[in-house]
Amino acid sequence: MAQLTKTCLYCQTENNCDDEKQPCRHCGMALPEKHPNDRNSKVRFFVKAFWLIALFCLVMVFYLPR
Ligand SMILES: [Zn+2]
Repeated sequence: MAQLTKTCLYCQTENNCDDEKQPCRHCGMALPEKHPNDRNSKVRFFVKAFWLIALFCLVMVFYLPR
């Protein structure tokens, strides 16, 4: 995880940053802390929770009598 790409919020250009606090090379504005990765982890958690619930429902369909 040496090279990170962050998308600038202001000019939408990708920046390769090795440093934590580095301004955008295009417009010079401060880059966001963790812009797209935050949303990805939330989606991953939601998918995991969805499959857990789906599996639980399937088990219950076969487990419970009519
Ligand atoms: Zn920028």
